[in-house]
Amino acid sequence: MEACNTYYYATRDPLGAAGDFTTAPEISQMFGELVGAAMADAWARASRPANVRYVELGPGRGTLASDALRVMRSAGLTPPVHFVETSETLRAAQKKAVPHASWHDRVEDLPGDGPLLVVANEFLDALPIRQHVGGIERRIVITAGQLAFDRDGEMVEASPARDQAVLALSERLVALGGVALIIDYGHERTAPGDTLQAVRRHGFTPVLANPGEQDLTSHVDFQWVGEIAREAGAFISGPAEQGSWLERLGIIARARMLANSAPERAAEIEAARARLCRPDQMGSLFKVLAIRSPEWPSPAGL
Ligand code: SAH
Repeated sequence: MEACNTYYYATRDPLGAAGDFTTAPEISQMFGELVGAAMADAWARASRPANVRYVELGPGRGTLASDALRVMRSAGLTPPVHFVETSETLRAAQKKAVPHASWHDRVEDLPGDGPLLVVANEFLDALPIRQHVGGIERRIVITAGQLAFDRDGEMVEASPARDQAVLALSERLVALGGVALIIDYGHERTAPGDTLQAVRRHGFTPVLANPGEQDLTSHVDFQWVGEIAREAGAFISGPAEQGSWLERLGIIARARMLANSAPERAAEIEAARARLCRPDQMGSLFKVLAIRSPEWPSPAGL
């Protein structure tokens, strides 16, 4: 999974209609704007520390960051920007959207001398997982020239790479101050199950097909992520469902404002709002969890 995704992200921009999948910030500017508003508000309630930084993990095309930074600027917050991104292709896209950003390969490489405002949308789901059946790790073998799984049964998933990223992030927030918004699809409670999935051209495909040519992800276990954060001494808020979180942050009012200033786009704006919020679309499957320093306030909407 690690090798496939490294190759996959290094060799294309997978986002949007012409690619394989569409993420929330690519659906509407409202998503990044509300993230920016929540961050600016948390920063204001933390007494506006001057040395704060904006950090994004796996920023895609940089769309979320540029929408969030625009709103933060109007609230008097203009932080330096740090991106954790391994794909050179996507780094180039991010540089167009946010030219003054700095790039890092890992959370561990982020600067360590001031509070962090961190956003990770659809980042943890892309990190590699392991699956176990009856305590034995499930492996991929080659049978008659085809990739195949070596065992089936009730699956328990673990993701050491994800755990390490959450731990490193939580330790930083405790030591430096700040808050992280983790947004991803997944479940609120730990449960067994096979959640590995592959997506190509906006549809599901068999996970072992087309290695390196389709997006491999798994659902995030938010209970487990929260436990790692708390173990590191951080506080958590949520998880909340994405739809109700966006509504509490004011997406309905924001959609109305945008539609009033561009009436010819009203139907498109309403369709985007529905896609982000409705329980039968992204509203319920996607969850939002805040990890924060005990000295920082709980971000709005959670
Ligand atoms: N947050 C963006 C993109 C999500 S796609 C959005 O919402 O549109 C996943 C992102 O994580 C891509 O930018 C991908 O290149 C990056 N990524 C995947 N694995 C990574 C890893 N191990 N380290 C750093 N970035 C990674």
